[in-house]
Amino acid sequence: MAMRKFCASFEVRDGQEGRIFLAYFSGGVHPHGCKERAASCAIGVCPEPQQFYLPLDRHIGAPAVPCVQAGERVLRGQIVARAAGRISANVFAPAAGTVRGVVGHISPSGKKTDHILLENDFTDECVSLPPLSERTPESVLARIAEAGIVGMGGAGFPTAAKLDVRGRADVLVLNAAECEPYITCDDRILREYTEEAVQGVRLALLACGAKRAVVGIEKNKPEAIAALRGACGEEIEVRPLRTRYPQGAEKQLIYACTGRKVPEGKLPADAGVVVINVHTALAIARAVERGEPCYRRVMTVSGGACGRPQNLWVKNGTLLREVAALCEGDADCARIVSGGPMMGEPVFSLKVAAGKTTSALLFLSEAETDRRAVQPCIGCGKCVQACPMGLSPTFIEDAVFRKDLAEAVRYGAQACIGCGCCSYVCPAGRLLAQSIKLAKKQIKERGIHG
Ligand code: SF4
Ligand code: SF4
Repeated sequence: MAMRKFCASFEVRDGQEGRIFLAYFSGGVHPHGCKERAASCAIGVCPEPQQFYLPLDRHIGAPAVPCVQAGERVLRGQIVARAAGRISANVFAPAAGTVRGVVGHISPSGKKTDHILLENDFTDECVSLPPLSERTPESVLARIAEAGIVGMGGAGFPTAAKLDVRGRADVLVLNAAECEPYITCDDRILREYTEEAVQGVRLALLACGAKRAVVGIEKNKPEAIAALRGACGEEIEVRPLRTRYPQGAEKQLIYACTGRKVPEGKLPADAGVVVINVHTALAIARAVERGEPCYRRVMTVSGGACGRPQNLWVKNGTLLREVAALCEGDADCARIVSGGPMMGEPVFSLKVAAGKTTSALLFLSEAETDRRAVQPCIGCGKCVQACPMGLSPTFIEDAVFRKDLAEAVRYGAQACIGCGCCSYVCPAGRLLAQSIKLAKKQIKERGIHG
């Protein structure tokens, strides 16, 4: 298996254990950030639509189960679908109105899935979660689950389940790296809602039982770093990190912030660490302090084919076409992406609804899109140098093309984090990351071992 070791670029001292460790991951790339236009825009509000299509499955785990009937009137903040187990998430009405029923509606995958159709009555009558009578790890975890909070960086894993590590983690890492080009929503949250985001970190610390927290943030966000330093106490360390993609990938971030390596096939908690995203921390604070469940999020809308890049509060269930119209996103541009350009997903239709994990909507111009014809591999090794997981993408791709999935496993395909660095640097324009992603899916489905 072609795994390289993490390599060193500089040394930092572990604040708790007092030992020296090497904090840079190897590989990675430095794409142009393209963050300037959106980063300078204060967070605005996307107008409410007439109808919301509330997705029931925009999280990892089982889809939520509707608990309202067609014709029923609901208030903003009222639960409309219940989590189907621990790895699932409640869904809440983002506005007051009348439920029209459960309908099949296009999802990001291009398939139709169940959505609750809600007709907005624009009265904005609302209901909140009741105040917490006490703040214990159990009550905060229960509130996070009750509020339907999931990882809002894009993963969508239910946050209460993630934080419920029962004493196995001593460090909480706040992922404020935001290393994907264009995306600026976390940066703006940290600048505009600093106290709330930090309070979310404190509550997450209480919930998971960790002793201290580290905020990992790329150095290209000086305003957010300054704001955090003013708001964090001794138990929360702010650690500026070099600007290099994928600094925000979980394993790379944990290494940069703690010097710990998460073994392959293991979870961060196995290394004593829990990681949450900036927006997730904000959602936790709002659920506990205000009784606000998770029914809206800040989204970055940007790209060369977007007339008015900005960061916006967008309520779950708002169709992306409403956001596109507000931001003058060109529906006929070269490529529309949900999330970042490196790891995001192509948007097949602007009829898809925004959800808890929709961090960005990018309208990319021809000049921003790589449309080179795929050429044969020239054996330059750039993909190997760029891979932050120490893999040999070209060998894995070759094994995939030979339909030898067992060999792909031996080359470490399952360790691929899908960052796209290999495809980004390949002079032959090979779609390495896409091939490996497909291989991982097939390896899992067929239960293949190396
Ligand atoms: S997509 Fe996978 S193989 Fe390619 S650089 Fe990232 S981790 Fe390595
Ligand atoms: S970067 Fe592209 S051309 Fe170079 S070795 Fe990798 S696959 Fe081959």
